[in-house]
Amino acid sequence: MSATAPTPTSPASPAAPAAGAQPAVLLDRVHRTYPNGRGTVAALAGVSLALAPGSFTAVMGPSGSGKSTLLNVSAGLDRPSSGRVVVGGSDLTAMSPDAVTRLRRDRIGFVFQSYNLVGHLTVDENIALPLLLGGMRRASALAQARPWFGRLGLDGLEGRRSGELSGGQAQRVALARGLITRPAVLFADEPTGSLDSLTGEQVMGLLTEAARDQGSTVILVTHEPRVAAYARREVVVRDGRVSSLTAGRVGS
Ligand code: ADP
Ligand code: MG
Repeated sequence: MSATAPTPTSPASPAAPAAGAQPAVLLDRVHRTYPNGRGTVAALAGVSLALAPGSFTAVMGPSGSGKSTLLNVSAGLDRPSSGRVVVGGSDLTAMSPDAVTRLRRDRIGFVFQSYNLVGHLTVDENIALPLLLGGMRRASALAQARPWFGRLGLDGLEGRRSGELSGGQAQRVALARGLITRPAVLFADEPTGSLDSLTGEQVMGLLTEAARDQGSTVILVTHEPRVAAYARREVVVRDGRVSSLTAGRVGS
């Protein structure tokens, strides 16, 4: 990439990350409004944010403040009403829906708050799904799903339909599905919300490991300060705005 590429100069632009480093995720004055009965609600009201490659960020804030919208828009699952979203140098807001889908498949993992498992597939098929959708042969994809069972305490559940899982089990399956492609960027919306504290610690250990060993950039939403403490950076969302940024409390 050319060192002379133009950089945004507007004062509303997010602070530049370390010189030369392209942010893994960049939001530039992002707004997202939804219709609601009589008018519109601003789920995001001008969010600018730059996340460094390999960084681990916790997103906190009250219910309804815009956390899920922030993740959805950043991951290309939803489009902003205005503003730019740039992931790994690609401007999602300037790309066709098909190109966004490909970029998501190749670079992004997403752990949904409501798991979004495919009910008629077995647990191992659900975990392998991103690989199968990427064209990998079934035997290879299922083989790659296998180690996740031990790692996440899911041994014995391989052939079970995802509709037959407890909330905590489904949440761990969703997490394995998000991590199996070793994504450049992993978004996780309250990934420990259905877990007891011991399992929650285990899951946070895996996420931390993924961020460190794979160089993944991790962005997770949580209500639990104990979970947020794993992150190096906290972003607080209030009324659709990023209202404060603080360093995480866990050292390197
Ligand atoms: P959080 O994840 O922090 O609880 P959300 O991002 O889900 O918040 O929602 C932010 C605001 O946007 C809320 O007022 C919510 O009702 C509204 N909202 C979110 N998604 C939609 C949607 N698809 N349609 C209409 N309103 C929505
Ligand atoms: Mg939410």
